[in-house]
Amino acid sequence: MHKIVAIDGPAGSGKGTVADLVSKECNLVNIDTGATYRSVALKALQNNVIDDEKAIIEISKNIDIKFTPDKKVFLDGVDVTDEIRSKEVTKIVSQVSSIVEVRKNLVELQKKMAGDNDCIMEGRDITTVVFPNAKYKFYLDATPEERARRRFEQNKEKNIDMTYEEILENIKMRDYNDSHKEVGSLTRTDEQIYIDSTNLTIPEVVKIITDIVKGDE
Ligand code: C5P
Repeated sequence: MHKIVAIDGPAGSGKGTVADLVSKECNLVNIDTGATYRSVALKALQNNVIDDEKAIIEISKNIDIKFTPDKKVFLDGVDVTDEIRSKEVTKIVSQVSSIVEVRKNLVELQKKMAGDNDCIMEGRDITTVVFPNAKYKFYLDATPEERARRRFEQNKEKNIDMTYEEILENIKMRDYNDSHKEVGSLTRTDEQIYIDSTNLTIPEVVKIITDIVKGDE
């Protein structure tokens, strides 16, 4: 079987940054599953159907999402890398991702994206639903305050206008939604290697993961 490194964890725990760096060190295709849910949420906003579950399910069935090696996200052929991180999308994405049919469709899409490649995939249900048989499973965590602080710094760089308080509130709301889903809830299991990154630097977290993945080769 191809090599799968699965990372789950809450919003702002550093999964995206860490997965990007580990993918380069270990030569893995990097799949950001949050970006697939964000793309559906963006299209629902564009089509003005955020309260129409049926329409959102339809969107998730036929959505055309492509990731490029330089971390860009294309939706229906259009570069939406920045748009999917906007305040508007961030506010509704966990609601969109709670729809069971949407999850079913996107899990299929994520598996298709992985194909036969050795890959690193990060999200909320990768170790439990998408690739429960992955050889490497991690749960990356940090306190809500630290995660909000990190997101605040990231947003400043990307010119996304949200206050620290707004971000913290959104993170707590997403933590609640993401761990209370009917299907695909963010859960800790005995099979995951738990990493609390609150007091770790990014290179330290990357090293923990690459040492394990490379040490086993
Ligand atoms: O990781 P990111 O913050 O970009 O994910 C955006 C949202 O997508 C999460 O808050 C969560 O609701 C949803 N998501 C999910 N399952 C995944 C990845 C993301 O439900 N595997």
